[in-house]
Amino acid sequence: MTQFSDLGLSQPVLQALDMKGYNTPTPIQEQAIPAVLEGRDLLGIAQTGTGKTAAFMLPGIDRLRESDNRIPFKSCRMLVLAPTRELAGQIAQAAKDYGALAGLKVHSIVGGTSVSKDRNKLHRGTDILVATPGRLLDLIDQKAFNLSGIEILVLDEADQMLDLGFIHALRRIHQLAPAERQTLFFSATMPKAIRELVGAYCNDPVQVSVTPESTTAERIDQYLFMVQADEKQSLLELILSERHQVPGKFERVLIFTRTKHGADRVVKKLGQRGIPANAIHGNKSQPQRQRALDEFKRAKTPILVATDVAARGIDIPGVSHVINYELPNVPEQYVHRIGRTARAGKDGIAIAFCAEDERAYLKDIRKTTDAEFERLALPDNFRAVVEGVGPTKPAPKQQRQRVSAKPRGGAVSDGQQRKPKRKHPSRAGKPHREGGQPGGQRSGENRGSRNANRRRGRGGQRRSAQS
Ligand code: AMP
Repeated sequence: MTQFSDLGLSQPVLQALDMKGYNTPTPIQEQAIPAVLEGRDLLGIAQTGTGKTAAFMLPGIDRLRESDNRIPFKSCRMLVLAPTRELAGQIAQAAKDYGALAGLKVHSIVGGTSVSKDRNKLHRGTDILVATPGRLLDLIDQKAFNLSGIEILVLDEADQMLDLGFIHALRRIHQLAPAERQTLFFSATMPKAIRELVGAYCNDPVQVSVTPESTTAERIDQYLFMVQADEKQSLLELILSERHQVPGKFERVLIFTRTKHGADRVVKKLGQRGIPANAIHGNKSQPQRQRALDEFKRAKTPILVATDVAARGIDIPGVSHVINYELPNVPEQYVHRIGRTARAGKDGIAIAFCAEDERAYLKDIRKTTDAEFERLALPDNFRAVVEGVGPTKPAPKQQRQRVSAKPRGGAVSDGQQRKPKRKHPSRAGKPHREGGQPGGQRSGENRGSRNANRRRGRGGQRRSAQS
């Protein structure tokens, strides 16, 4: 098995990895690190969770150490562009961790914080700068920063940057950066606009492609509720209050909506039912986002409602459940969403709420990802609960019969219940969940693997409806 020490990294970087407890490189690290150390441009087709940050940061740090140039005035030597504030924060932290013993100066600048503070801290320049494109251009326009010192330019999650409307910013940054540089370009998907950008930014890049989604998703049990759009909130409340049991024990529950407004509405209504939750999306201030993330990480408020853009790339360990309150209209987003659980070798549970008008999205997700859902039944008295008459008892076991929602060998409508595809041995004769509030210990039962291989190149890249 390849070790980090086989890849040509320097001693200080190897020591820092040791301190972090990383023993073996991930596939993208194994492929990318030697090429980057050689000075080649790189095109990495990979998403968060694959270890791509270290794949560019570790050799990047060593390249900076090797060239040993001085820190340029009002500029940087390595610039990493990231789509969101959270991702930029994570990358900067990784740069600090990995570069701890290399003596490199690391800064990050993101929107929603004080520009004058950024101006001051970058006055003397830095070795590594992690930035969101908008804030970087603000500083360039104010003549507080320039790109003349760049030796290495990294674009992380380039497809997401395009989705967020950063195309003009990226074109400008390309024009302003020195032609003589190394470019490391990462994107989870490769639509035409991205290929064009790669052509402009990179010079004969080494291409490295990893498809972590299949391995990640194999550890994710995927469940499906068919539920009317206006009844989703009631179903969510029942599940979170554990009056209707779903598989797995709650630790941290990440809920996805398509819009910022939708996320706020869900949080507000949960609050009215005495279920505390936070929302994270682009309309929240940076301190609000950070607080929501911190509370989630510490499991103080273990229910977080997020939009795709806000959650993209954020690395939160211990997410036991991802609930797709609304299905994404871009199948790739589904993979990104459920990839928030089952991180770092853990198993996870993904639950999708599909309304009548989302069937086409569900079909797309199945087609693109090969996802196999097990259908869960609504409680018997669900309608009574929705209409506000009568309490809900936990559903008896036979009601929670799990059925495959993936049509096989003939058309079977989603409205029909199906024979269980497979009975999980550990579940036989047990209730689906042993109870417990978010924050409790997760039981080892209810595990199984689902084949949700994501097939790239199908479906293409469509713009998310999320704002
Ligand atoms: P990334 O895809 O860069 O966001 O990394 C996903 C997670 O994997 C982060 O929490 C990293 O700290 C972690 N990680 C990266 N490389 C390794 C490695 N070689 N061994 C173990 N964990 C890693």
